[in-house]
Amino acid sequence: MTTNPFDLSGKVALVTGANTGIGQAIALALAAAGADLALAGRTAAAETADGVRELGRRVAIIAADLSSAEPVGEVVDAAVAAFGTLDILVNNAGTIRRADAVAYSEADWDAVIDTNLKSLFFLCQAAGRRMIADGRGKIVNIASMLSFQGGIRVPAYTASKSAVAGLTRALANEWAAKGVNVNAIAPGYIATNNTAALQADETRNRQILERIPASRWGAPGDIGGAAVFLASAASDYVNGHILAVDGGWLAR
Ligand code: NAP
Repeated sequence: MTTNPFDLSGKVALVTGANTGIGQAIALALAAAGADLALAGRTAAAETADGVRELGRRVAIIAADLSSAEPVGEVVDAAVAAFGTLDILVNNAGTIRRADAVAYSEADWDAVIDTNLKSLFFLCQAAGRRMIADGRGKIVNIASMLSFQGGIRVPAYTASKSAVAGLTRALANEWAAKGVNVNAIAPGYIATNNTAALQADETRNRQILERIPASRWGAPGDIGGAAVFLASAASDYVNGHILAVDGGWLAR
């Protein structure tokens, strides 16, 4: 019997959007803690899969475009088919489209909301049904600073990530007593593809850095420990929480 509450040995985790950035770092952190990994996304997560194998864990790659909720049932079924169970779901896949609110197109609105919110909800539902039947499970949604703040020129993204925070609380209320923990991580400003435009904008980059008490952009690996915590027995009495990993941004 393990005495380490963060140990994920024997657990199976499904992570979406794990080919790069935060999703890749979360997948590797879960594997390092002992979990086997199902990696779902539209770009095959070959590099991440190699990393999981190097850590001595099993891995399955599941092809899925999550710009619609249509494949979510198959994604969960494929993870269960690969490993026989599903203990952890990390909803990481997400997209961002920047434009002034007065010019924001319906196509951009739908692309962001459908990926960041609609597919996320139906993945929670498909995984949640299994986890409730099993009487245990961990769901970790990736929220944002824009779950708390308005942001600039990203109305659909802010709407989606604010909704992810609310949805996380709503699902926690329904599922906590059934043994399923639903929580979220709100990353601060992390250097990934998602924030490449901000990093390249000298003025915005300086403004962002001036406000971060830790005085640096986060790295994807900064999110891994929080994911392991929320995926493990260490967080068994944590429900509906939005955990900021932001170098102190919200404390300012
Ligand atoms: P990223 O490097 O751009 O990664 C985004 C991931 O989502 C990629 O794997 C991407 O796949 C996947 N994805 C996007 N649209 C998809 C679709 N339709 N179907 C399947 N997968 C799709 O950016 P990241 O920063 O690591 O973002 C990961 C999550 O963190 C997102 O939810 C993002 O909103 C959130 N977040 C990031 C920051 C930050 O500062 N970076 C802060 C707060 C929250 P492709 O490579 O195929 O596009």
